[in-house]
Amino acid sequence: MPAILPFTRRGLLFVLSSPSGAGKSTIARKLLASDDNLAMSVSATTRPMRPGEVDGVDYHFVTVERFREMVADQEFLEWAHVFGHRYGTPKAPVEAMLAKGCDVLFDIDWQGAQQLFQQAGGDVVRTFIFPPSLDELERRLRARGTDSDEVIDARMARAANEISHWDGYDYVLVNDDVDRCFRDVASILESERLKRSRQTSLIGFVRSLTRPG
Ligand code: 5GP
Repeated sequence: MPAILPFTRRGLLFVLSSPSGAGKSTIARKLLASDDNLAMSVSATTRPMRPGEVDGVDYHFVTVERFREMVADQEFLEWAHVFGHRYGTPKAPVEAMLAKGCDVLFDIDWQGAQQLFQQAGGDVVRTFIFPPSLDELERRLRARGTDSDEVIDARMARAANEISHWDGYDYVLVNDDVDRCFRDVASILESERLKRSRQTSLIGFVRSLTRPG
């Protein structure tokens, strides 16, 4: 008889959102490095590549025409306009990762979180990361040195809009200490994995434990 394992479970779609500069990318990187069962969804975008970014790793950098084709061919799980550019989550790699038994991490905005939730509901866990203050957010954006003053101003203006959607998330955290914030995000992921509703083979396992004789 095959072993009935209690930990066979549904894959998770783990969304991390925050205003740019709140530390989400650092936390996502730490999470991926520390967790073999988690894979990153690489989005497609029409925005220009920043110095240091790698096509296919940070994003799939595509033209507006290619992006439109992908939308028409229903290749996206979700997509949205952000900062005047298009960003979208390709569907096929996410399905492949879930089929392999991996949970999938998404660095997407509130529009993406909302659309993903509409499609995959109970399999989606949404976490929002607040910066400790607007001053600190601006300081971090300037320290990155990758954006012009104009882009930074636009990102700051957008931060307020992004933050106003905080109540569309299951968890909210303040990133005033990146190590602590990372530990909190990792424990959210661990706890969500343990939810009874995600453990699909529990009935068989419980029967094997309760069978008389
Ligand atoms: P950045 O240009 O700084 O890499 O990202 C800008 C914003 O776009 C971030 O808030 C990021 O989470 C969001 N974003 C990145 N990829 C996607 C995506 O595939 N879908 C949606 N809806 N937002 C995305």
